Amino acid sequence: MTGTHGDELEGQFVCYELLRRLKAEPGQLRGIVDVYPALNPLGIDSITRGIPMFDLDMNRIFPGNEKGAMMESLVYHLTEDLKGADLCVDIHASNIFLMELPQVRINEMTAETLVPLAEKINVDLVWIHANSTVLESTLAYSLNQAGTPTLVVEMGVGMRITREYGYRLVDGILNVMRELGLWEGGTAAVREPVISTDRAVSYLNADKAGIYVPQVQIGEQVKEGTLLGEILNPLTGDVEQAVTAPAEGLLFTRREYPVVYSGSLLGRILGGIEK
Ligand SMILES: [Zn+2]
Repeated sequence: MTGTHGDELEGQFVCYELLRRLKAEPGQLRGIVDVYPALNPLGIDSITRGIPMFDLDMNRIFPGNEKGAMMESLVYHLTEDLKGADLCVDIHASNIFLMELPQVRINEMTAETLVPLAEKINVDLVWIHANSTVLESTLAYSLNQAGTPTLVVEMGVGMRITREYGYRLVDGILNVMRELGLWEGGTAAVREPVISTDRAVSYLNADKAGIYVPQVQIGEQVKEGTLLGEILNPLTGDVEQAVTAPAEGLLFTRREYPVVYSGSLLGRILGGIEK
C-alpha cells in the first residue's frame, strides 16, 4: 500500500511494476496480492501531502474510529481490511526536501518479527527506532499492534519517481513472497542491508540560510571532513557554509530541495560501517 502522503509517488511505480510482473507469470502466484496504490486519493489528485481541506496528516489518525468523523471512519475500515495479511508493505517516499536511500524503518518492539523480513526486501538499510520515538498513530504501528506484520519502506524523494529504486523494491517484494511461499516465479538476487543497531546516525543541519548545492551522491561512503555540499548566497556570490561530514559513514539521506534556513536538515550519515 502507498499514497498515505499525497506528495509521495515512488510507490505508484512499485504498484505498477509489481502487478506487471505478477501478471507476466500468473501461474506462479500462490496467494493473494492486494494493491492499494492511493490510500489518500484526494491528496494525490491535488498534490497535497495531507488530506486536502482538513489540514490533516492521514498517517496520524490510525487506527481510526468506526463511529468517528469521515476520515476516522475511513481509516478504521481500511485498517480492518488490511488486518490478517501475511505481510503488509507500506511504501513512503520521504518528502519533496530529502532523498532517501531505500530503507525499512522498524520500531524496536517489533524488530524480532520484522528484521528477518526486512533483510530480504532488497533495501540498503534497516533503521531500527527506539520505542520512545515511535508514533503510535501510524498505519504500520496499528497493523503491527494487531499482529499483522507491516514493513515501512522509505525511499526516493517526494513528487518524483526514481525508477531504479522501484525496480529494486519490486525484486525485494517478490523475494519476500518467495520466502513466504506465495510466489514461485522469477526473482532476482537481493542485497543484504546494513542494520542500524549499535551504529550512530549523524544528522547534518544547516548553520546558515541560502541555496544548498550538494557535492556527493546519496549512498556514498564519506569520510569525516568530506565536503558534502555548500550553502551559497546568490545575492553576494559568497559561500555561506561549506558543509562537511561530521563522521565517517554511509550518506543515506540527502537534501534535494535547495532553499535552506538555519536548522534545515541537509543529510544523515550512518556510521561504523566496515568496508
Ligand atoms: Zn510518507
